[in-house]
Amino acid sequence: MVLTDTHTHLYVEAFNADRDTVIKNAIDSGITRFFVPAIDSSYTEAMIALEESFSSHVFLMMGLHPTSVKEDFQKELEHVKDMLDSHKFYAVGEIGIDLYWDRTFFDQQRKAFKYQIELAQKKDLPIVIHCRDSFDEIIEVLDEVASDSLRGIFHCFTGTLEQAQAAIDHNMKLGIGGVVTFKNGKIDSFLNQIDPRHLVLETDSPYLAPVPHRGKRNESAYLKLVVDKLCEIYQTSPEEIARITTENSREVFGI
Ligand SMILES: [Zn+2]
Repeated sequence: MVLTDTHTHLYVEAFNADRDTVIKNAIDSGITRFFVPAIDSSYTEAMIALEESFSSHVFLMMGLHPTSVKEDFQKELEHVKDMLDSHKFYAVGEIGIDLYWDRTFFDQQRKAFKYQIELAQKKDLPIVIHCRDSFDEIIEVLDEVASDSLRGIFHCFTGTLEQAQAAIDHNMKLGIGGVVTFKNGKIDSFLNQIDPRHLVLETDSPYLAPVPHRGKRNESAYLKLVVDKLCEIYQTSPEEIARITTENSREVFGI
């Protein structure tokens, strides 16, 4: 059984004390493929070091996270472009719009999102979208840049059934993580109406730990709890969930 964590921030400070153990524990539980999204340039060095240590398991993305879009965003975008030109990455991410914390940089977030999608299209890479309180704004941008080659993942999907269908119509997989185990997570109520070929698994660790670890540090080994929940929703086996979702991740990332 091969499980793929399509979204894990293994390079952040929360794992500094026990990173190797966390990764080994996950690998021992069958989670052997880690797709690692970027946040901003301050983490690039740590990401490359992680890749060097676990080169057959770790697959990096490059991008500027919407909550890191500030006054200096042009400089950050230059860094993204330079890195994409000089190093192998498997996606442009995570990118998007986040209006939950702050709307101050909405215009800049939108510009950065669109620019980075264009970079992905030039490199024929998928995109990994971060969307928070911004579903319509994201779809609006996707409509502007629509092309046959546009593909990717709506990371940490928490929308409605209609929004899930809109994302799928834009050639996006839905990233399913700990939220599906939350009592008020809502997506568990309609997920069985969506074909699992549209889903990929993710932890978003160290954030969004599934029940019963909710509120604590998340790690890739907990992906198993998400798998258990999906088995319940789809009335199928962990092996089948692993097979389909890993196949979906290969389709998106090309590896
Ligand atoms: Zn993330």
